[in-house]
Amino acid sequence: MKRSLLKNLLFLLLLGINCIAVGAQDTQQLPETSYGPAIDPAKGYLVAEIDERLYWVTDGLYNAMFLVYDEGVIAVDAPPTIGENYLKAIAEVTEKPVTHLVYSHSHTDHIGAAGLFPKGIEIVAHEDTKAILERRKDPRIPIPTKVFEKNHEIVLGDQLLHLTYHGKNHMEGNIFIHAPKQKVLMLVDVIFPGWAPFKNLGIAEDVPGVYGGP
Ligand SMILES: [Zn+2]
Repeated sequence: MKRSLLKNLLFLLLLGINCIAVGAQDTQQLPETSYGPAIDPAKGYLVAEIDERLYWVTDGLYNAMFLVYDEGVIAVDAPPTIGENYLKAIAEVTEKPVTHLVYSHSHTDHIGAAGLFPKGIEIVAHEDTKAILERRKDPRIPIPTKVFEKNHEIVLGDQLLHLTYHGKNHMEGNIFIHAPKQKVLMLVDVIFPGWAPFKNLGIAEDVPGVYGGP
């Protein structure tokens, strides 16, 4: 992804599958904007600043982002395909500890590595996500410690993450994660920049919700 794209007025961070297997012939016909960044295979991930100490980390398939404030780090999602590399990516850019973790939604392919983060941190999610995780009892995924129904702001130092819930879309509890200073909106498994929606609209549980938005 080009740097210029990262600074667009509204950067829609792709948090779903952004690489779909296609034949070589088909690949040649794809627009340049459909490709993700080149990942060093020896390293296995890429970390880059979007703006103002907001970073994204990707393995070329899944993505997450983290926001650095004066005393720590707010991580958003923890895809198991990135796994331990998430901690390496954070350590590349700051020595500050992870103090907060946000779950975009309850699907394991986006938060299954949450247990890698330090115990005792604040974990924020929509109340429906917490209810699902309590039923699931997955030992890899800590239960959220802070939930909300419609709106929640994480304000730390001079950084802000605004979390909102606009109803069911991809699934119940899937939230909008907005960093207003950086003009970044993260909406997982709904927006696929450069691509048509994934098969079955990314297994959307509520199609009007996917198209309705806020
Ligand atoms: Zn999902």
